Amino acid sequence: MKTFHCTACQALIFFENTKCLSCGRTLAFFPDRAEMLALDAAEQGLWRAVRGDAVDSDTVKLCTNYSDHGACNWAMRSDDSESMCRSCLLTHTIPNLDVPGNPEAWVKLETAKRRLVYALLNLNLPLRNKLQDEKSGLEFKFLSDSVTANGDQSRVLTGHDNGLITINVAETDDIYRETQRLRHREPYRTLLGHFRHEIGHYFWDLLIADSKRIGDYRRLFGDERVDYQLALKQHYEVGPPANWADNFISAYASTHPWEDWAESWAHVMHMVDALETAHFVGLSVKPQRPDEPELSVPPVPTRAHVGDFDHLIEEWKTLTYVLNNLTRGLGLSDAYPFVLSVPIADKLRFVCDTIASVNVKKQE
Ligand SMILES: [Zn+2]
Ligand SMILES: [Zn+2]
Ligand SMILES: [Zn+2]
Repeated sequence: MKTFHCTACQALIFFENTKCLSCGRTLAFFPDRAEMLALDAAEQGLWRAVRGDAVDSDTVKLCTNYSDHGACNWAMRSDDSESMCRSCLLTHTIPNLDVPGNPEAWVKLETAKRRLVYALLNLNLPLRNKLQDEKSGLEFKFLSDSVTANGDQSRVLTGHDNGLITINVAETDDIYRETQRLRHREPYRTLLGHFRHEIGHYFWDLLIADSKRIGDYRRLFGDERVDYQLALKQHYEVGPPANWADNFISAYASTHPWEDWAESWAHVMHMVDALETAHFVGLSVKPQRPDEPELSVPPVPTRAHVGDFDHLIEEWKTLTYVLNNLTRGLGLSDAYPFVLSVPIADKLRFVCDTIASVNVKKQE
């Protein structure tokens, strides 16, 4: 993630902030320029960005999920024909807001999704909703488990199907999710992790399924035509192979080549986000021995970074050393509890190469 400063007072701010704690102004992320704007109210409910002592002449408007529900923090050009931002427009179904706890759950889901959307735009990946492209567009449904008329439990499965990504609202409940995380030994089972995993399935359909990359994919990840339901059943009944960590980024990745791809894809998105942050804050690590890797690189466009995997992985090893030492220093468990073997790194390289090969001319 980029480092953001309040455009009015230059205070450091997070991507998720809605108010500058230093100057008190309303903040909004403006995706067209990938910046966090400090805003002053203008006429007719519109806003103008403040830049130091100056004020933009152009007006912007807040996404209605921001102004009406506090579930977004994005702004758009005031002449945009839509009332919602491009992240919110991807959501087809929101949780029932009359149910206690659901408004907060929805905010958490949209917050995680916006970080996903930021990265997809940053990587120049195609991002169209189902209204723009019914066949290969993307949409999200946030659904809760329910009880049917005859008293049966109807469970919502988090997953991807043909551009539709369903997330079970229960995943926003920290206690539920942490229990699942420990039970299934999924260190990065987080809301953002779910979004990054499921979008991996979506991009498999888009970038691998009918492409000439399918042969290379099968060589690295295995043949995805093996029975998926049987593979899942086996995973939950028998568990992963004892040596899964030699070849898979996670135990779950060993269930099926599709899951291996989605887990690898999600991992690349974790890496890209954390490395972008390290670059933008100017983090540098000075080696004490000549053979130790050095991390001291000026910010490079994330997309270019994905195109140079050898460089990316070297920096990653250094950054994860820093990350783990920092969290150990705080008495917490390792922020990065993964070991990247050669077969795993080859899969991550393939994901990066696939992303780098996408050539989206113009995003509208
Ligand atoms: Zn400020
Ligand atoms: Zn929005
Ligand atoms: Zn999956």
